[in-house]
Amino acid sequence: MFDKILIANRGEIALRVIRACREMGIRSVAVHSTADADAMHVRMADESVCIGPPPGPQSYLSVPAIISACEITGAQAIHPGYGFLSENAAFVQIVEDHEITFIGPTAEHIRIMGDKITAKETMKKLGVPVVPGSDGGVPDVEAARKIGEEFGYPVIVKATAGGGGRGMKLAKSAAEMESAFRTARAEAKAAFGNDEVYIEKYLGKPRHIEVQVFGDGKGKAVHLGERDCSLQRRHQKVFEEAPGPAIDAETRARIGKVCADAVAAIGYSGAGTIEFLYEDGEFYFIEMNTRLQVEHPVTEAVFGVDLVREQIRVAAGLPMSFRQEDLKVGGHAIEIRINAEKLPKFTPSPGKVTQYHAPGGLGVRVDSALYTGYSIPPYYDSLIGKLIVHGRDRPEALARLKRALGELIVDGIDTTVPLFHELLDAPEILTGDYDIHWLETWLGAHGEG
Ligand code: ADP
Repeated sequence: MFDKILIANRGEIALRVIRACREMGIRSVAVHSTADADAMHVRMADESVCIGPPPGPQSYLSVPAIISACEITGAQAIHPGYGFLSENAAFVQIVEDHEITFIGPTAEHIRIMGDKITAKETMKKLGVPVVPGSDGGVPDVEAARKIGEEFGYPVIVKATAGGGGRGMKLAKSAAEMESAFRTARAEAKAAFGNDEVYIEKYLGKPRHIEVQVFGDGKGKAVHLGERDCSLQRRHQKVFEEAPGPAIDAETRARIGKVCADAVAAIGYSGAGTIEFLYEDGEFYFIEMNTRLQVEHPVTEAVFGVDLVREQIRVAAGLPMSFRQEDLKVGGHAIEIRINAEKLPKFTPSPGKVTQYHAPGGLGVRVDSALYTGYSIPPYYDSLIGKLIVHGRDRPEALARLKRALGELIVDGIDTTVPLFHELLDAPEILTGDYDIHWLETWLGAHGEG
């Protein structure tokens, strides 16, 4: 096992990894920009190294700075968290070339899944159901029109290098195809430097269901059920739950096995998430994320496992500590993402937190790097905390969420907390009857968005 792990990240996810290290008796190294000298992850780690000025490319995304920090501190492994360098195959290759262990899958697996066309082809071959659409990239408007006719409108044009909902355009009819195709290409080129696009049938009312998988890198893999992350604003998740309200045990076992078998077949190592759109009882693969997800705690709550601990174990060459038959869903968990943003427009709201009080009590977990007196810097993601609740069933989890939200105090800045107070009274949230478009429609009707 490693003696020392460097965490190439900040905020709540850096704390999350430090906590797992401490429980495992592993020393932790925090890296930080000059803007984060007072950050909680720096205070909680055993050691810390300043790696550069505030902008991401000069610090948290600076590969030479991170490799140097490893060499100076003698860290044997790097945990990337999510975002930043977590899905950067070139970075993983450099880490491996320096004989440092990357806590995650191989560069090759990250590369395959990072290109959505290759990912989709790979998954299709492995028996995973995919969204009907073009076979690979679509070269020009003429080819795009043919596909539109073949599959029937509406269709969605998507960037193979896409992420964060960018480079994606809907064409509702043949008349809209040319403009959708050209805009998606131009956006993809500008955002990712790669203008290759592909086309999928547009699903009108799907849920976003994602399956958590875990592989040992030697051909064994398990699944840890699904999360329903359909509540999204601009393709960003805001509320996630496990198990999915629309998924029964038989469906879970069936799609879970398809996913576990697929990652086992490629010898995948560590945590991964296979994302699907789910409509009328059918699953359609959209992408695989080769890292720990923001919403991993809901899975940890219902399965009673520590996914970060497991990532570290597998990276160190140890076997997985659970088998498929050990993994049983227990109760229901919900996570909400709290952002430093001002409603109704979700405008970033960095600044000084004059008072902070985290909720507690039975079944409540708060993953946050906030503290009273902390100044949230303007340079990074606006996520300031996650509130996760666990109950014996969904109604208990919802009641607990409402109770915990009432205990939370974050003063001095604007947050998205008021949104959740309102949202928890919506009948569709209480019944679990929502799809990926529901939240935006609801926000529009409430003068928000
Ligand atoms: P990104 O990597 O940019 O987030 P995804 O492929 O994961 O892109 O898609 C993000 C979101 O876009 C999905 O959760 C869904 O809301 C919507 N979406 C993607 N593909 C389709 C599709 N074929 N039909 C309907 N909605 C889609």
